[in-house]
Amino acid sequence: GCDCQRFLRNNWLLLSTVCAVVLGIGVGVLVREYGKLSNLDKFYFAFPGEVLMRMLKLIILPLIISSMITGVAALDSSVSGKIGLRAVVYYFCTTVIAVILGIVLVVTIKPGVSQKADEIDRTGSTPEVTTVDCITYKCFTISFGRNKTKEYKIVGMYSDGINVLGLIVFCLVFGIVIGKMGEKGQVLVDFFNALNDATMKIVQIIMWYMPLGILFLIAGKIIEVEDWEIFRKLGLYMATVLSGLAIHSVVVLPLIYLITVRKNPFRFAIGMAQALLTALMISSSSATLPVTFRCAEEKNHVDKRITRFVLPVGATINMDGTALYEAVAAVFIAQLNDLELDVGKIITISVTATAASIGAAGVPQAGLVTMVIVLSAVGLPAEDVTLIIAVDWLLDRFRTMVNVLGDAFGAGIVEKLSKRELEQMDVSSEVNIVNPF
Ligand code: ASP
Repeated sequence: GCDCQRFLRNNWLLLSTVCAVVLGIGVGVLVREYGKLSNLDKFYFAFPGEVLMRMLKLIILPLIISSMITGVAALDSSVSGKIGLRAVVYYFCTTVIAVILGIVLVVTIKPGVSQKADEIDRTGSTPEVTTVDCITYKCFTISFGRNKTKEYKIVGMYSDGINVLGLIVFCLVFGIVIGKMGEKGQVLVDFFNALNDATMKIVQIIMWYMPLGILFLIAGKIIEVEDWEIFRKLGLYMATVLSGLAIHSVVVLPLIYLITVRKNPFRFAIGMAQALLTALMISSSSATLPVTFRCAEEKNHVDKRITRFVLPVGATINMDGTALYEAVAAVFIAQLNDLELDVGKIITISVTATAASIGAAGVPQAGLVTMVIVLSAVGLPAEDVTLIIAVDWLLDRFRTMVNVLGDAFGAGIVEKLSKRELEQMDVSSEVNIVNPF
């Protein structure tokens, strides 16, 4: 009785989100069968989901600014340098491992080899996509490709003038500066701390809405998908990507966590469940950031001084899932084109896939766009990304989930590695700061 009630109370959000997913699938299938909705109806139908996305996107700007600035200001700059370095080493190593894992899998499974050319139906599935009309690659502003009925415009939410990486650098500098300003700077530190608290309160409100939004997001997607047949055709390719993502998140990352932190990695991962589910539903690690924060801090009790620093930067540059996916997809397309891959080409793919994952913004299908870099690096036709576009929305969800998991484990690992510095800071702040209570 009592245990069960406590479980319900602590996890009601997660449970209702899971219910929302199941319900959403049910509603989606039913409406798809019997609904006969016009395009406009479909738009209205999916609208409650769109509202969730917009709320999350709205809140990440103040969230990144306030958490980064207060996080950095709270750390002594010599300490923050060390923590930053550890984070970057973690980001880099896990991304490289993900790429290698992806390449090993795709080279052994060979999803693109020895299938007859018409298996993937190169002409059948892509005639609507005329050409890649425009590839503008400007910071993170990218629009890509065109299709007669749909426009595959992958324009990040930051495209309208906000560059997240630039913002992060600014917040770093600003945080360090006000941290060093002493008493005068304290006003600003207090201000951003208050802003951070207020933002997290709003996040809490958004979380109440989340199950409903997710229900309609998933139902809307099920109604919208036109061609399920393509899944059969691209099945082996999808299986390769998904098994790579599974191995990375169930074996590789937990092992690294276990070795460094020496705690149960799966308990940690379960603590992140709400964030992982959100990532799976909205396929954007940036928009998931508010939930990632809450899970890491409240469920897994990772030190706020670490999360404020490691999570926003991780959401922007640390994308293990995307890196793995880019490597697999590039080799798959090479196999379809009968391109011999020598060691040099494999290395080129690995390096560019790593770069492309760092360059991809944490928005839906950003990885598909930066794919173009990988393809052109080994001389493959850039428009061949059209071959995998049809299933990308699905793979995007899973790689985004792995991206978020990687950031979360990173926070836990960096916290453990920085225990000494954090404890020293605790001691010195007890001496220096007058307790207001
Ligand atoms: N959607 C992914 C993310 O937000 C990026 C990608 O497209 O791979 O993390």
